[in-house]
Amino acid sequence: MIPSETIEQIAAANDVVEVISSYFPLKRAGANFKALCPFHQEKTPSFHVSPQRQTFHCFGCGVGGSVFRFVMEYEHLDFPSAARKLAARVGIPIAEERVAADEDRQHEARRTRIGSSVLRQTVGTHF
Ligand SMILES: [Zn+2]
Repeated sequence: MIPSETIEQIAAANDVVEVISSYFPLKRAGANFKALCPFHQEKTPSFHVSPQRQTFHCFGCGVGGSVFRFVMEYEHLDFPSAARKLAARVGIPIAEERVAADEDRQHEARRTRIGSSVLRQTVGTHF
């Protein structure tokens, strides 16, 4: 689980226009940007990106949503993978609860190993 504050951070740091134009060029059209839709075949651009709303929308095939939705659709990723990819793009570390728990267990194991070697030494001096 990626904490929702992290999701918000990732969304704030990843401009939808910048992210999409890193995949293919966007043309400015007034306040918005447009391009040929990557999700269906077309000859005139109906794929629109709104910097104000931080969304994209295709009037041809109806695909649209946030920057996360774009990466999910374009790269065929699930939400956590798309979020990780966008986080990596802007250098946001993701502290997932499950990963943190794994690290705790590794620390615990190390402590236990050190503990038992100390114990063996102690036992050794006694015998
Ligand atoms: Zn489309």
